[in-house]
Amino acid sequence: MNKHPEMELSFDAIFEFTTMGMALISLEGHWLKMNRSLCDIVGYSERELLTTQMKSLIEPNQVRRIERIMKNLLGGELPSYQETISILHKNLSLLSVDWRMSIIRDADSRPQAFIVQVKVVSQQSDMARKLAESEQRYKSLIEHNPAGILTCDIHGRIQGVNPAMERILGYSEEELLSQFIHHIFLQNNTRYESAAGILMQNDNYMLVFQQESGERIELGVKNVPIIVNDKLDGVYLIAKDITQFNRDRESLRVAQQDLHDTVRRQQGMTLKFRKINGNFIHTLCDGELLYRLGFKPSHILGNTLHDIWPAFLASYIETYYHRAWNGEENVMFEATFRGITYFTSLRPIMENERMVEVIGSCVDITERKRMETELRETKELLESVINNTTDAICVLDLNERVISINAAHEQIFGWSQAELADRTLPIYPDYLEKERKDMYNELRLGKQITGMESVRLRKDGQLIHVSITKTPIRNEKGDIFGFAGITRDITERKQTEELLRKSDKLSVAGQLAAGLAHEIRNPLTSLRGFLQLLQHDLKDKKHYFDIMLSELDRINFIVSEFLVIAKPEAITYKKSDLVTILQSVIALLDTQAVLCNVQLVLEFQSDIPEITCSEMHLKQLFINLIKNAMEAMPKDGQIKLVISLHGNDQIRVRTQDNGCGIPEERLKRLGEPFYTTKEKGTGLGLMMCFKIVEAHKGTMTIQSQVGYGTTIDVFLPTYTGEHN
Ligand code: ADP
Ligand code: MG
Repeated sequence: MNKHPEMELSFDAIFEFTTMGMALISLEGHWLKMNRSLCDIVGYSERELLTTQMKSLIEPNQVRRIERIMKNLLGGELPSYQETISILHKNLSLLSVDWRMSIIRDADSRPQAFIVQVKVVSQQSDMARKLAESEQRYKSLIEHNPAGILTCDIHGRIQGVNPAMERILGYSEEELLSQFIHHIFLQNNTRYESAAGILMQNDNYMLVFQQESGERIELGVKNVPIIVNDKLDGVYLIAKDITQFNRDRESLRVAQQDLHDTVRRQQGMTLKFRKINGNFIHTLCDGELLYRLGFKPSHILGNTLHDIWPAFLASYIETYYHRAWNGEENVMFEATFRGITYFTSLRPIMENERMVEVIGSCVDITERKRMETELRETKELLESVINNTTDAICVLDLNERVISINAAHEQIFGWSQAELADRTLPIYPDYLEKERKDMYNELRLGKQITGMESVRLRKDGQLIHVSITKTPIRNEKGDIFGFAGITRDITERKQTEELLRKSDKLSVAGQLAAGLAHEIRNPLTSLRGFLQLLQHDLKDKKHYFDIMLSELDRINFIVSEFLVIAKPEAITYKKSDLVTILQSVIALLDTQAVLCNVQLVLEFQSDIPEITCSEMHLKQLFINLIKNAMEAMPKDGQIKLVISLHGNDQIRVRTQDNGCGIPEERLKRLGEPFYTTKEKGTGLGLMMCFKIVEAHKGTMTIQSQVGYGTTIDVFLPTYTGEHN
């Protein structure tokens, strides 16, 4: 079968006996066969080696590389491989060997096994050994360098990358080997088409690289030339992934800008200052308020208060700066400049118990100040209105208890604020209890009461007529929390109304009376004439005639009095003395008074001036008053007449009796024609009195208390000019 068995034998012998170590390695990296020389070189027996893998012999740092190379051999990209590498001797010493590797293929060029040839180079010259060592050191430096290192030749072709660079770029060394660097980084950058071009870059620069995954990687790169035999042989690119660093730097920059913008765009103003050489120097100041005050940061930064503000303002602010710098928390102040009022609060910042700086934040309070002033003024105005109005104002809570009342309320009702505080108002007469309840029920329903007329009690027990306006008071939410009331004293108005009503009646009665009087007096005159004629013929009936005549005279008298009422202008006036008039009235009524057991007393001042009047009518006036007084006290009494000056232009004549008095409800009816309480009364006396007083431009008031008596005051003007 074998043509040259001796030949075969001799090849086996060569394999076995050559001084070069030789071995066959399986495609998976197991020892298959090795010669004696190889066992000698590595110090292991054949048996020992057969149980291990080839890579266990190789210095660990190089394993990966050798494996890669084996892959390339397998793939056919590399025909063979030769290098000086370190292997591990059994005695753990490193051995430099010339390592050659190629692949055995069958006829179909299918790979069968690796063939390895090993020759020890350590026995080479000392220098060569040192060289190999330094090469190892240099390789180790590159292999283990945490920075990515790429080696390229003079044409910019990639010669190698270290593991760090593989990691950074995401490609393996094989994928990169022999590629042109400018194809990898920044396509079409012609500068990268040669080592010299690359070296023209700045010392440190940035390269952008797109990973297969599409991610952009930013590299901080430094170029180092490779010089061999004084000639440029290539370039090292030493690179660091600075993507994250750049990102961090960018986000820091954005954050800083954002902070700066925030400070600038805030509506208020933020400032910082430090004390340097005894001066407060501003180290920060920005915000919209600063610009509104007419400044820019550059006006403030690095400057002291006196550089910035007018002297008075600078000294004012300085006192607050001192306090804050001395560690006082919550120092606050207000300042006004160019029409803007702003509020500042200062906060000292300490580090290790040492004052570092003070931060101030300022807000514009101009508008708030303006509103405060406006509010205060409005409040003052309202208070002044409330306290100066003549209407009584009260504010009550939901339980109708007094919260406050105004001065007019005190005056009208007589109770002071202190007396009423927190009490219900005691101004309701018992018989108006229902009205009070109804009123507050309405208010509680949210209704308003306007211009309601009623009567109320004063502290002195007197009833007064009032007009009442009441409203519920609501809070911001719209809930009723109390009531406000305005009460107007309309007693006087009521009296005037009463008077008007009365005088209306009077004038009607007057007109009626005038017509009647005229119509009655004419026939009365003729009746009287005929009676006198008849008197002569019927002498024995004289008694009857006397009665008839006196009755006729009385009718005539009464009727003529009606004329006074109807036509006051018909009265003739002249200067007279009131005292004399009253004296003659008393003389006239004295007899009757004695009969009634009544004493008439006249008192008068010595200096009563004369007045312009109708003597006859004034006599009638006082006769009426005194007669009424006498009729009011059937037995034992005193009627006192007092004449006195009232002010500088009036005389008062007071008629005072201690008779039965007049009940309240009747008082207002006095003076109405035909109002009488007497069986034989006419109810005209007082009406005439009012008319006469009115004709004299005077006034008459009646006060009375049942069981005690009545006082009637007649006020007459001491009028000196023409009387019309
Ligand atoms: P007459 O006297 O005819 O009744 P007057 O007009 O004079 O009419 O008086 C009206 C009413 O006024 C009287 O009926 C009486 O009730 C009351 N009056 C007037 N003066 C007094 C008085 N001094 N004291 C008590 N009642 C009086
Ligand atoms: Mg009378």
